[in-house]
Amino acid sequence: MVPYKLERSKRVRRMYLQFDSPEFVTLKLPMRHSEKGGMRFIQEHADWICETLDSQPRVQSLQQYLVKHPRLAIAGRWHKLELRFQQGAYGYVVDEEERKISIALKPGLPPEQQLKDLLRSVAREHLGSRIRGFEGSVGVKAHGVTIRDQKSRWGSCSETGGISLNWRLLLISPKLQDHVLLHELAHIRHFDHSRDFHAFLMVLDPNSKAHAKRLHEEAKKVFVLGRA
Ligand SMILES: [Zn+2]
Repeated sequence: MVPYKLERSKRVRRMYLQFDSPEFVTLKLPMRHSEKGGMRFIQEHADWICETLDSQPRVQSLQQYLVKHPRLAIAGRWHKLELRFQQGAYGYVVDEEERKISIALKPGLPPEQQLKDLLRSVAREHLGSRIRGFEGSVGVKAHGVTIRDQKSRWGSCSETGGISLNWRLLLISPKLQDHVLLHELAHIRHFDHSRDFHAFLMVLDPNSKAHAKRLHEEAKKVFVLGRA
């Protein structure tokens, strides 16, 4: 069954579909057009409508996402996330032995912005040290690591070797996160996407191709978070 909403309008001459929500399609009908005819139109294109709905960007709250997926990728491993609201407390504590991160938010303030600020701090500290940990084996040195709120990229590398990373890298699996870090570090050696670059990246991450593909899928889920 295709989720749809019916709207009749005097200004509509022919029936058509409109996508402005990931939840349902809107069927626009001329005043006198029968609902049955509209239903048939929807049924005939059901597969295509469902695919189109699936590809619509969903804005989701970061808090909701973290309650559903309570974990962050830190130091190459998943860490269980504990979220709490606590009087007077604001910040995070990482316990690497227990593979745990506790985040305390202030009650009374919108959690969304607090969470985003804190995750950016976690990223600054931990993605930064992950990069430094890789420098030796890659054989390059990054000229600083900046954490950013990019809309559609996981990271980038400047000609001077400065690396920018998306804080949302904390939300994807440690292996995929490492892949992005290695990709950006590899750019310090090869500042392009040439054959040589990919060959070099393949040495650093033998699953490079599969990881790049999965990143593309993850991007759809993760890039919509923290935009409210
Ligand atoms: Zn690249």
